[in-house]
Amino acid sequence: MTWNLLGQESLAFVFYFLYGSFFEWWFHKYLFHSPRFIKATFRAHHLVHHQRYKYEPASYHWQSDYEKDHIAMDWFALPMFVGSHLPVLYLIQYLTGWQSLWGGVAAIVSYYAVYEYFHYQMHVPANRWFERTRPFLFAKEHHRIHHKYMQRNFNVFFPLADLCLGTYISSASMQAAEAAGTRPARTINRQQKLNRSHVQN
Ligand SMILES: [Zn+2]
Ligand SMILES: [Zn+2]
Repeated sequence: MTWNLLGQESLAFVFYFLYGSFFEWWFHKYLFHSPRFIKATFRAHHLVHHQRYKYEPASYHWQSDYEKDHIAMDWFALPMFVGSHLPVLYLIQYLTGWQSLWGGVAAIVSYYAVYEYFHYQMHVPANRWFERTRPFLFAKEHHRIHHKYMQRNFNVFFPLADLCLGTYISSASMQAAEAAGTRPARTINRQQKLNRSHVQN
């Protein structure tokens, strides 16, 4: 019985962690890079964070104590994320009978913690062992590209939604596009690929 409960909550953790990538994508695109819904988040991110930190390493990295204060979200962000999701998590558990509420809460807290930790270390390097690992270096470059092309690479460390929603660009494709004198294209979806090959044949 206990194992069954643990299994259900673990499955919920995985499910909601994957969901976290899509939530982050939506939040980043519409609340951080658009003034349409909330002006304060747009101002703090698009007008301040992105103006302080640019693509070039000299500006991507923290230069002063003042800049350090413009990396993490406000202290109330996590309680707000958990609080706004609780009724939904409860409703899903109630309607489906799937013991998933605590797995969901754990996923939101973990996703948020990794997001903030990674994002902070990306902008404030301190030569920790962790900063030389492949996953971190990949995420750091992924986010650095976002600081150049704000409508690409919305995910900070887990680019599942970028891949699924066509906003993922790699360092190689960005460099190729820039060498050709164009802006990096959105990820080409399968249908567009088929159309292209159809036209070429
Ligand atoms: Zn950043
Ligand atoms: Zn951004």
